[in-house]
Amino acid sequence: MIPVTKPFLPPQNEYQQLLDGIWKRQWLTNMGPLASRLEMEIKDVLRLEHLLFVTNGTVALQMAIKALDIKGEIITTPFSFVATTSTIVWENCKPIFVDIDKDTLCIDAKKIEDAITDKTEAILATHVYGNPCDVFAIEAIAKKHDLKVIYDGAHAFGVEIEGKSIFEFGDITTCSLHATKLYHSIEGGLLVTKNAKLLAKLAKIRNFGISGFDTFSDLGINGKNSEFHAAMGLVNLKYLKDIKNKRKLLSNYYDEKLKNLKAIRPTWHKKSENNFAYYPIILESEELLLKIKENLDLNEIFTRRYFYPSLSSALPYLDKIDMSVSDDIAMRVLCLPLFYDLTLEEVDYISRLMLRIQNN
Ligand SMILES: *Cc1c(COP(=O)(O)O)cnc(C)c1O
Repeated sequence: MIPVTKPFLPPQNEYQQLLDGIWKRQWLTNMGPLASRLEMEIKDVLRLEHLLFVTNGTVALQMAIKALDIKGEIITTPFSFVATTSTIVWENCKPIFVDIDKDTLCIDAKKIEDAITDKTEAILATHVYGNPCDVFAIEAIAKKHDLKVIYDGAHAFGVEIEGKSIFEFGDITTCSLHATKLYHSIEGGLLVTKNAKLLAKLAKIRNFGISGFDTFSDLGINGKNSEFHAAMGLVNLKYLKDIKNKRKLLSNYYDEKLKNLKAIRPTWHKKSENNFAYYPIILESEELLLKIKENLDLNEIFTRRYFYPSLSSALPYLDKIDMSVSDDIAMRVLCLPLFYDLTLEEVDYISRLMLRIQNN
């Protein structure tokens, strides 16, 4: 059996060593020493000024919308994980979908201005599969129309643009450190901002809005994360380079082996490099996708229609609308198995099987 993904697990003794410290200190959660150390180390690795380690990527999005005091319409992408849209609704804002670019699969910046109304307050866009949005165009639009920008960077850990972290763009970028992501802390999330005042506000929101003994400054939530999660994050951080290199090797091998597949790959941002968080292919037709997927299933090779269906037509709490590019891509996109433990032999096997299914 080959799953579509498998979480990276470090040598158990390295995790155990950090647990020993937790037992000594008996400090289990609430901004403990390991959580603080994780924040410092991630800042060093990604060369960021400010960030917060939080419960998960979804709470990070909720906190971002809250901290920026957004209440009206938020322009967003229909081609993302459900949390990007559901969070907007959860925060009592209205998602306004703008279609995606057919090559990059990120929100089509050229279509954003047409969707702006007098109620628009923000843009919330996803760096799909880690591929950066057109951040420069979005920045210009946001300036012109006085909009806030939040990026869902759940896929984009370690991605840079012109040599600087993609997490530096927008008012706030969120990230998920969930077990299935490229880099993880079992459950976890990040909030990144360049604005120190906003960071201070987010830190209070993370801790119930408490601002001192017996005082409250903001409407808050429990967005904290534990020492146990931080410990996993700290150990895994040491393996980040290894993880990326292995995924790169496997991805390049898929590229080579699947040259004759009737499929294309998303176009990566010209000023950025792939972090190999996923291996998506866009097949010629949904028919071919289903044929390949069903036959791989029979061989116990599991792929994932990620993202499918397009959020603009999938959510029972929103009116369904047509988004021609997103609808079309969602029907034809498939993510192939990609994880640290996958072998070149397995990639070879999966690829040969796929070509055989296609040509049958
Ligand atoms: C995983 C993911 C999230 C949610 O993150 P959690 O840590 O699981 O809450 C949000 N957006 C995108 C694009 C994701 O892939």
